[in-house]
Amino acid sequence: MDSQIKYIHQQLVSKQITCTALVQEKLDLLKENTHNTVNSILDTLALELAAKVDTKIKNGEEIGLLEGIPFGIKDVYMVQGTFTTASSDLLKNYKSAYTATAIQKLLDAGAIPLVKENCDSFGHGSSSENTIFGAVKNALNPELVAGGSSGGSAVNVAKDYTVFSIGGDTGGSIRQPAGYNKIYGLKPTYGRVSRYGIMAYASSTDCVGPLAKSVEDIRIVLNVMSGKDPKDQTSITSKEISENAISTNTVKTVGYFKNFIESDAIDSEVKADFLASIEKIKAKGINVKELDFFKSDILVSTYYTLAMAETASNLSRLDGTNYGNRIEAENLIESYAVTRSENFSEETKRRIVGGNQVLSQGFSDEIYLKGLALKNQISENFNEDFNEVDIILSPVTPSAPPKIGESLKDPHAMYLSDAYTVGFSLGQLPTLTVPQGTVTGLQVTAAKNNEELILKFANFLKDTL
Ligand code: GLN
Repeated sequence: MDSQIKYIHQQLVSKQITCTALVQEKLDLLKENTHNTVNSILDTLALELAAKVDTKIKNGEEIGLLEGIPFGIKDVYMVQGTFTTASSDLLKNYKSAYTATAIQKLLDAGAIPLVKENCDSFGHGSSSENTIFGAVKNALNPELVAGGSSGGSAVNVAKDYTVFSIGGDTGGSIRQPAGYNKIYGLKPTYGRVSRYGIMAYASSTDCVGPLAKSVEDIRIVLNVMSGKDPKDQTSITSKEISENAISTNTVKTVGYFKNFIESDAIDSEVKADFLASIEKIKAKGINVKELDFFKSDILVSTYYTLAMAETASNLSRLDGTNYGNRIEAENLIESYAVTRSENFSEETKRRIVGGNQVLSQGFSDEIYLKGLALKNQISENFNEDFNEVDIILSPVTPSAPPKIGESLKDPHAMYLSDAYTVGFSLGQLPTLTVPQGTVTGLQVTAAKNNEELILKFANFLKDTL
């Protein structure tokens, strides 16, 4: 069976395993692991919940599909009473006062949280090296980066330490590490899953989404987390996706961005593999169209302009007064300054400085407003594309994952490695990484709220590539 969730559910119901044994096994794997995926372990809570599931099963009560299924949570989500550090010195002792809506929905469905997962601090990064808990190591080759920022979540799923994990994706942070570790990772349509309780990076593109080993598990978890939330005014209502609805392909036309593939930055192997995948898709009778799109450097600079502006604004609340490790100095202003300069990472400070610069008087018209205008043009471009094609297919990254340590040398080169993911974030579109087609997988994108079509096409790709 493809779905791990269904497989484990069956094992629990037929009493082949107990939930306690399952949870204990995963907790042991997490504790022993050398990939630096763990920021904190939720063992007391997990074992308590597992015992309850076992009692229900013993009493002959029915259990739901997600009941007793162990999962991981990127360490940027509030889960009441747990440490929520964002992998930062500033919040290393901070405990959540409440629980994020998406996580609460999973808890209500009976899923069991095992771990708060390592990631780039505040989501700032593409490699999961920007963290106080040590660089996350790739699941397939520990000398390589895990990708980021949801690197710990991707590795936990790839190594079977968790059945699924919940990451966060602002500019690629679910899709890119999913690709680097050869699993599935979905960035839903902006607003489909409530952002309430995720630590804000760039509020206009922050998305909550699942990482898992099958399309079916992505579908199951997405359905549970989706929905309008009175606590997040940007959240939207959506229709549940049935298993049946995604079983047969109805996609007729696929598009891809010619300039992504013809760019100098793309690795020759990624390019050849991508084009070979296109040929296989054509051979199944699907029309393929080449599309025009903005150049990668325009996408990357638009994204980083807006993301830095938003993160500078969002992180201004972290001054040591209400949250975080406060460092006392001579006066209040000094205390803020020392607290922030000692406790934020170099990368986070680079973004705060850059963000405040683009928002400041004299610069904002030239830079920030221009970024917003470009974002609108990008959305319009997508609207036109989806009049012509059902799905847009692209590589996840221009090249294979780098060695640990390499990308830290050149932040600008790291930003450029996000060339293929950030455009879909700016368009607020749903995009899924599938672990096929190139060394770091493929991205499948559809028009807003069309996750159903994406999952359908992903099932088709699984049998085609
Ligand atoms: N790598 C991108 C950045 O650093 C995306 C990160 C994310 O999606 N959180 O901004």
